[in-house]
Amino acid sequence: MVEKVEEVRKGFEKALAEVQDGEGLEALRIRFLGRKNGLLTTILHNLKILSPEERRVAGADANRLKKEIEIRLESLENTLKGKEKEEVSLDLTLPGPEIRTGHLHPLTLVSQDMVGFFERLGFQFQEGPEIETEYYNFDALNTPADHPARDLHDTFYLSPGVLLRSHTSPVQIRVMEKEKPPVRMVTLGRCYRRDALDASHSPVFHQFEGLMVEKGTNFTHLKGIITYFLEYIFPFSSQTRFTPAFFPFTEPSAEVSISCSNCQGKGCSSCGHTGFLEILGCGMVHPKVLQKVGYNPAEITGFAFGMGVERIAMIKYGIPDIRLFYENDIRFLHQFREIVGV
Ligand SMILES: [Zn+2]
Repeated sequence: MVEKVEEVRKGFEKALAEVQDGEGLEALRIRFLGRKNGLLTTILHNLKILSPEERRVAGADANRLKKEIEIRLESLENTLKGKEKEEVSLDLTLPGPEIRTGHLHPLTLVSQDMVGFFERLGFQFQEGPEIETEYYNFDALNTPADHPARDLHDTFYLSPGVLLRSHTSPVQIRVMEKEKPPVRMVTLGRCYRRDALDASHSPVFHQFEGLMVEKGTNFTHLKGIITYFLEYIFPFSSQTRFTPAFFPFTEPSAEVSISCSNCQGKGCSSCGHTGFLEILGCGMVHPKVLQKVGYNPAEITGFAFGMGVERIAMIKYGIPDIRLFYENDIRFLHQFREIVGV
């Protein structure tokens, strides 16, 4: 019996060396370990006809070989699998991995869209400094020293009289000081306010605003252009609403809202049950502002408007939290890769 075991071992060694693939491996397994007529299975089966002494020796031998064969088969199986994988990874006809291309940030998309709209109406894009003087940020905009917006607690002062601009309106003053009417301009940029960071406030945010000053400009021009603009930016909204408001640098002033597309103006939680969403502030430029830059308010009139870029993007794209814009979470940003800027 011991010789037979040795014979099977030699036969297995020889056959193993000839296996090429998974199929050959399976055939080998059946030939030696097959339940019915496997060569080693038959030996193990025949042990019972031996004397106890012979059975002990031959049994130990045969079981050792069985273990050995199992280990060798498993190791060959792993080698064959590795080879298969290698062959797959070398398949040059497979499509390559996706190349991730960059795309614009949602705030950039909205900014370009808004600036592009007004440029097509003949407005010029202008820029101004983020570090401003009190004069341009407040005094020139008819906001006197005792106005609450000038409070130390509401504004980032860098040194007496110098601050981080709290709105983009100083750019209007800088442009009007340099240019004679007619002026049609828009500006866009970072502004700073001492707001705690939450779902709808950020100490750094972006503002977009515009100014049109020329002979004969009146409130109907303001209303027409703003309505046209809102219909362009929010094509899903059905109504635009102007309500009286107060700003130091415009008179009369208005706040403009659009009907809530979520509830079609009926009132829901996203519009605070008012049916409308506040979008921007606007008004006719205050005569005192025109006087400060050397224009004659008896001859020249104009209008101005301003809005938060983040708010526009949040309503346009249904974004619930302002912090998402600044967190650089690629899962959030990648949702905008299909939207192409103007
Ligand atoms: Zn609503």
